[in-house]
Amino acid sequence: MAFRRGKDARRRWRISARLLIVSSIATVLGFSAICAGVMFDMRRGEEELARRTLENLASGIDADISRNIELYDLSLRAVASNLEMPEIRNVSKELRHLILFDHAATAKHFGAIQVFDADGNLTIDAASLDPRPENRRDEEYFTVHRDHPDTGLYVSRPMLHRSAYAIVLSRRITDEDGRFLGVVVGSIRFSYFHELFGRLNLTPGDTITVLRNDRTIIMRTPFDLDVIGKNLAEALDWKSDNLKPGGAYAGKGPVDDTPRLYVRRSSSGPLYVVVGKPLEAVFRLWHTEAIRIGSIMAALILFVLSTALVLAREISRRADAEDKLEELATTDALTGLKNRRKFDTEIELEWRRAIRHGQSVALLMIDADHFKAYNDTFGHQAGDQVLVGIAICISDAVRRAGDCPARFGGEEFAVLLPGASALEAFGIAEAIRGKVEQWCEGELITTVSIGVASMRPAAGQQWADLVEAADKALYAAKANGRNQSVLATAPKIALVA
Ligand code: GH3
Ligand code: MG
Ligand code: MG
Repeated sequence: MAFRRGKDARRRWRISARLLIVSSIATVLGFSAICAGVMFDMRRGEEELARRTLENLASGIDADISRNIELYDLSLRAVASNLEMPEIRNVSKELRHLILFDHAATAKHFGAIQVFDADGNLTIDAASLDPRPENRRDEEYFTVHRDHPDTGLYVSRPMLHRSAYAIVLSRRITDEDGRFLGVVVGSIRFSYFHELFGRLNLTPGDTITVLRNDRTIIMRTPFDLDVIGKNLAEALDWKSDNLKPGGAYAGKGPVDDTPRLYVRRSSSGPLYVVVGKPLEAVFRLWHTEAIRIGSIMAALILFVLSTALVLAREISRRADAEDKLEELATTDALTGLKNRRKFDTEIELEWRRAIRHGQSVALLMIDADHFKAYNDTFGHQAGDQVLVGIAICISDAVRRAGDCPARFGGEEFAVLLPGASALEAFGIAEAIRGKVEQWCEGELITTVSIGVASMRPAAGQQWADLVEAADKALYAAKANGRNQSVLATAPKIALVA
């Protein structure tokens, strides 16, 4: 029973080693998942914060641009509607100037308002009472109003206007019958945008883009003349759906390759604003934090796993050592067969199993004949060699898994044969006896006598009964002249044929 308990304990050791590794891995995975979740939330938080900041920035820029365009447009409208009155043509130039142009026309960054007639000739110029002759009939801001009466306020592509880069704002002039009388034209210089963007605290890589509703770039900071005037509708690798009004987009934009978080302000005016911040800047803090927490986590994981591995290996080593100890404790040192202690454990186990399954158990008791005389003649050491030889003969003849050959004590051996009938057991006994006889040929003949018993035990019977029966048969063999196998015949034993 002690061995069995030992075996259970070792199995428990091995299970705990495996459990230790599995629980360590589960712990590591669990913590990693929690950590990844927290990091992911942090990243989302950073992105949300950046998005809101960019929205506010875009909203401020958009408000400024819209207000200025609206004010300027009011001046254009005033000029256009005043010119619709026939009386205005009859007043003096000076008076007409005073009536038509308010202060907006002369504000900083805004070009002087001009009026062109139906043929494109400059007729009135806010900057001069006697403007030099000029014809703009081929300009887009002229043709668009001539050909499309419903255009309203038209914002041109960025262009060189009156020797400065500007966008031209224009409105159509009509008479009472809706006939085309010409256009009134003003401009907003790039200096306006430069000053507006210059007031903002931008970090390198940030972009602000002002676009016309048809996605023509009106202005962009950082300033690049190659980009200004480009229509993004022609950028094939960029879908307008990526960035809807009021929306945000993280990734590469249509202008350059830097991945940014872009936010587009929804605007009701002719222009809209998109601001962008490099993703690298958006996530810089998060990135540092992620590396710091990640490294700590990696170190912890490494520590936990390596500790678990070392402990598990120690536990396995201990189990192995106990295995070896048990092997030593259950083996007979001289013959290498199982020793008496192990035999007692095994017969107890097999006996119970046989009761449970209703099977038979056979036992051979083997005793060397006249061994005392052998010892006396050849010495104890030679006697030991004979015992080793007998053990080899027994092992040769007993080959089934589950059979248990053991040294019972002194020059006596026992072989437990679970499931064997009396006849099968008798056959094995004869095989052993024959091998011993054969092996000793030529020398002084050593022989063995064998008592054979086989029982199908009933509940309540003891294995000692089987041993006693085999022992009796052995005595019978000795009494009959030795070197023979005898099958137990005791009447109280249910012999199995
Ligand atoms: P039989 O069994 O045929 O009746 O005669 P026997 O001489 O074998 O019987 P007995 O029981 O009188 O003697 C057993 C002898 O076995 C006594 C002892 O000298 C010897 N013996 C017991 N154990 C060992 C051992 O480990 N080594 C050696 N060499 N001899 C042993
Ligand atoms: Mg003996
Ligand atoms: Mg003997």
